[in-house]
Amino acid sequence: MMNNFLPFAIPDIGAEEIAAVVETMKSGWITTGPKTKEFEQTFAAFIGNNVEAIAVNSATSGLHLALEACGIGLNDEVIIPVLTFTATAEVIRYLGAHPVFVDCDLNTLNIDVEQIEQKITPRTKAIIPVHLAGLACDMEAILAIAKKHNLRVIEDAAHALPSKINNTLIGQHKSDVIVYSFYATKTITTGEGGMIVTNDAKIAKRCKTMRLHGIDRDAFDRYTSNKPAWQYDIVAPGYKYNLSDIASSIGIVQLSKVDLFHEQRSKMAAKYTRELANLSIVLPPQVKNSHTDTHAWHLYIIQLEDTVKLSRDQFIQQMSDNGIGTSVHFIPLHLMSYWKNQYNLTSAQFPQATKYFNRALSLPLYTKMTAADQDKVIGVIKKILT
Ligand SMILES: *Cc1c(COP(=O)(O)O)cnc(C)c1O
Repeated sequence: MMNNFLPFAIPDIGAEEIAAVVETMKSGWITTGPKTKEFEQTFAAFIGNNVEAIAVNSATSGLHLALEACGIGLNDEVIIPVLTFTATAEVIRYLGAHPVFVDCDLNTLNIDVEQIEQKITPRTKAIIPVHLAGLACDMEAILAIAKKHNLRVIEDAAHALPSKINNTLIGQHKSDVIVYSFYATKTITTGEGGMIVTNDAKIAKRCKTMRLHGIDRDAFDRYTSNKPAWQYDIVAPGYKYNLSDIASSIGIVQLSKVDLFHEQRSKMAAKYTRELANLSIVLPPQVKNSHTDTHAWHLYIIQLEDTVKLSRDQFIQQMSDNGIGTSVHFIPLHLMSYWKNQYNLTSAQFPQATKYFNRALSLPLYTKMTAADQDKVIGVIKKILT
């Protein structure tokens, strides 16, 4: 029985990634070096717009460095959606600043843009939009609010490779920083890893310095430039957030497959949308305009309609009993002990995210799934709901 269990997610690592890792392992250089430089350059070229890309060991580190480089500090406030992973919020606390939570818009599951301005105070310094599931936020509206109130914008693009809105790839908007994740389940992976993207040379320089102990030269430069390797200065108490060449060599191959992966994900999402259309479920929000917008389809999230007698938890149990792994993205942060207690958060303050959470689950959607795997998921859902 368990042999047939379809996991919620499996990374798509091929022979090319394995060969690339072996090559790096044999090269004599396994930490940050030529492969990381190459990964950064190919990633920057993929985003375009002459951005700089800075590889880090996770999106969480990347968001931390981005906020630090933007000067976020003690008692500042940063606006974030309540419906996100805790990483979006915790990095704000690392710097002694405070997250200010905004409810989600049920039409997109992203931050409710209409509610942002009422949360702005004299202490507000930044907004972190999250492109939930890979559906891009309304960046024009968010950037207009930020400009009006002189706020920084740091995009949590952990789900958004490759997402587009108004013909503009996420990564190309005039935000201060955009941060991607290469965690095992994301649209491309390096095992663990992340990428900071920015057009601001000062932010880029600060992130590069702070990702490696506050050293004024990066590790690779130290060992390849003409200056002696032992000669470096420390300009700040930095962090240890660099990405290894082993991880970057996986990333280079994964990035070369990003369009293929995206095509496969999009086709699978379209099949779910077709096959699940007439059941008592709310299907995931789609892009507003399919000519100008692209959904990355990191996640395929459904919500059970109120007419379904089963609770969400019972539904998940039945899926599991039928050999299918599912997940929930996310338990909104106002329901997590730390955030709830620290900021006196209640469900009444976040009615949309609360309503969503009670009925939401994510279906398996990954490139290692076969057509038969997806048919099984669809068949089990139909069996449970009809
Ligand atoms: C996965 C994720 C992160 C963190 O990514 P890591 O690379 O694991 O640090 C941040 N925000 C969101 C919305 C995520 O889903």
